[in-house]
Amino acid sequence: MTEVEPTIIPRDAHPISRRDISDNALKVLYRLRKAGYQAYMVGGGVRDLSLGREPKDFDVATDAHPEEVAQLFRNCRLIGRRFRLAHVHFGPEIIEVATFRALPPPDDDVAEGERVIDNGRIVRDNVYGTLAEDALRRDFTVNALYYNIADFSVVDHAGGMEDLQGGVIRLIGDPRERYQEDPVRMLRAVRFALKLGFRIHPETAAPLPEMASALADMPAARLFDEALKLFMAGTGLSAFEMLRHYGLFEPLMPLTAEALAEEGSEDWIPFIAAALRNTDERVSADKPVTPAFLFAALLWPAVRRREAELVEAGEAQVPALQRASSEIQALQQSRIALPKRFSIPMREVWTLQPRFERRGGKRARRLLGHPRFRAAYDFLELRAQAGDASQELVQWWRDFQDQPEKPPSQKKGSGSSSRRRRGSRGRGRARAKDGGEGGAGDGGGSPEAGS
Ligand code: ATP
Ligand code: MG
Repeated sequence: MTEVEPTIIPRDAHPISRRDISDNALKVLYRLRKAGYQAYMVGGGVRDLSLGREPKDFDVATDAHPEEVAQLFRNCRLIGRRFRLAHVHFGPEIIEVATFRALPPPDDDVAEGERVIDNGRIVRDNVYGTLAEDALRRDFTVNALYYNIADFSVVDHAGGMEDLQGGVIRLIGDPRERYQEDPVRMLRAVRFALKLGFRIHPETAAPLPEMASALADMPAARLFDEALKLFMAGTGLSAFEMLRHYGLFEPLMPLTAEALAEEGSEDWIPFIAAALRNTDERVSADKPVTPAFLFAALLWPAVRRREAELVEAGEAQVPALQRASSEIQALQQSRIALPKRFSIPMREVWTLQPRFERRGGKRARRLLGHPRFRAAYDFLELRAQAGDASQELVQWWRDFQDQPEKPPSQKKGSGSSSRRRRGSRGRGRARAKDGGEGGAGDGGGSPEAGS
């Protein structure tokens, strides 16, 4: 890549105002500058402020090396191996300070001290460079804008301003190479397109289907982080659709993809869509959501499929579900690493499902008092929507939550009054029994699963 002159957008020609930048980020920028270093706000901060949006966090780029940054701030910790970074802590706010990085060398499979490249993939990258170099190794043009604290101008090396105005997500450089260096950029393209309502430039989108499988050998912990950002940011349903469109869903959740591709599985798409829509609605209403419930839904088609295979092979229903749950969870773990605090409640939501079938008074009351009852019941409702459980069963449990002392007759039908009361009383009971962990959900997202 040849060095070209950057476009400098002066203060009066862009909308970024210091009033919108966090005091702590400004503190970091000013102190670096006072110590004689270059200091820029970069990435999401510049991008989002330019669009009149509130940034999630503020990142800083500088020519000071991490150790030099650490000397300027008492509240600083150096982190990362793949990328060494300085984190400056201000209570709950962390300002990430990154040193300008140089571009990767043209040839493959080299390890030159602080940079390790394996098969085109950047495994470690701690070779420092200039702002111009740093700009060109960022992912998308709109993420490569630098706000200069020295004169409040914005420095644009990659045509980011134009793409911001045009609503375009475009990789810097050769898309294939950039995905090869870091396949997670494929997911980031989708994420930013959804977050900003932008379109992915055709050249940036073109390699996605054929390169998608490279995600399969990304670290599962990193993919968990990305999956949360994709599915739990308020546009989860669109994320699911866009990931499927580009072939990116398959490497993330191969077992679900397989179950969805099977003949006669048409009802599973609306099932997953309903779960994601529900989560999206909760996010926009500022209600808590949990990955445990969401992943329970995303993986359920695979669990059901495996369960059916085991039953076919002669295993009894309940042990078949238990085994299918363990197997699917374990296999999925190699792609997206769900922490135990989510995977345990996820499996519980699954394995509680057969217990809804048994409506004998004592058993049903015991299930009602289960700490995970609410989440499991919400899940049952979701299943009924997809025809995977009967509406009559859901109605029975709705009524039973209102009147647990008198189990409703199995035929009792529509009760709009019971729906109105549902949750208030049933929830109170569950809470009384298990000391507070039980209830609190008001349908769908079931925040208590996993908290
Ligand atoms: P948000 O914080 O809103 O999710 P962001 O753009 O700040 O968006 P981060 O993941 O915080 O995204 O990364 C900060 C910046 O670091 C990005 O804007 C981009 O310039 C650069 N960056 C992050 N990840 C990569 C990557 N995988 N490849 C290249 N550059 C990256
Ligand atoms: Mg950020």
